Amino acid sequence: MTQAQSRYPQRVRNALRFRQLTVLRTERISAGFQRIVLGGEELEGFASLGFDDHSKLFFPEAGVPFTPPVVSDEGINWGDGPRPASRDYTPLYDEARHELAFDFFIHDGGVASSWAINARVGDALTIGGPRGSLVVPEDYAFQLYVCDESGMPALRRRLEGLLKLNVRPQVRAVVTVADAAWQDYLAHLSDFAIDWVVGHSEQAVADKLAAIAVADEDYFIWVTGEGATVKSLVRPFESERYDAQRVRAAAYWHKK
Ligand SMILES: Cc1cc2nc3c(=O)[nH]c(=O)nc-3n(C[C@H](O)[C@H](O)[C@H](O)COP(=O)(O)OP(=O)(O)OC[C@H]3O[C@@H](n4cnc5c(N)ncnc54)[C@H](O)[C@@H]3O)c2cc1C
Repeated sequence: MTQAQSRYPQRVRNALRFRQLTVLRTERISAGFQRIVLGGEELEGFASLGFDDHSKLFFPEAGVPFTPPVVSDEGINWGDGPRPASRDYTPLYDEARHELAFDFFIHDGGVASSWAINARVGDALTIGGPRGSLVVPEDYAFQLYVCDESGMPALRRRLEGLLKLNVRPQVRAVVTVADAAWQDYLAHLSDFAIDWVVGHSEQAVADKLAAIAVADEDYFIWVTGEGATVKSLVRPFESERYDAQRVRAAAYWHKK
């Protein structure tokens, strides 16, 4: 293994568990995000090692009983009941308080988004995973993060982690939001160079990325957001100039 390869992000598997948790608090944490804080006995053993991990959240229809699947050596047994809608969210685990938060971007017409707005203390929520984590070293000399609202919780988690480092890497972030008011979600992270694009112009984001000089070595690039947009924005980073192990692209949602 070369020195460069030993610095690659590492995959870690977690034992898959489904947990039924209880809403402890709800909080309008910023103009665009509703935070739901969960707890309960089944949170025991929860771990999330990667800043862009996801848990699957299950949203059964009102009045339809939901029995979480059973995990065994043979796999996941869902039983015969209806499978509820599920969505992926970034776990924000506070180990000291033993609480798990999810920050929901509030938008029109979403099962998850509506659930978050209507959630009340004492409500139940079943979650699964994170099943695996990509552990991305925090000390890459150069780091570039690109996202829209859906990736802001992961970015926030990442930047809060980087704040604790003794030596601050060079960090650039390009974040696109539909409404400038939603920038307040990252306001406490002003130590970092966050470039905002208000209005979701893919071209404006691409122009900003083209103007960024990515280091030749020891870099990490993270691009998330709407599926087709991610595909297009990541294209320049798919050339031979870049090491695919250091470029992570993921669709966080799809335009329907
Ligand atoms: C790894 C991962 C982590 C994620 N973490 C978070 C997180 O922490 N917080 C968070 O808010 N989201 C996060 N997302 C994105 C979230 O899973 C999607 O946005 C999801 O579709 C929202 O579900 P919904 O039920 O609210 O809307 P859906 O029922 O899926 O969609 C309803 C309508 O809203 C549109 N829509 C969906 N998402 C968005 C959006 N973000 N912006 C604008 N329109 C949208 C759809 O195109 C559709 O028209 C994450 C996704 C992934 C893959």
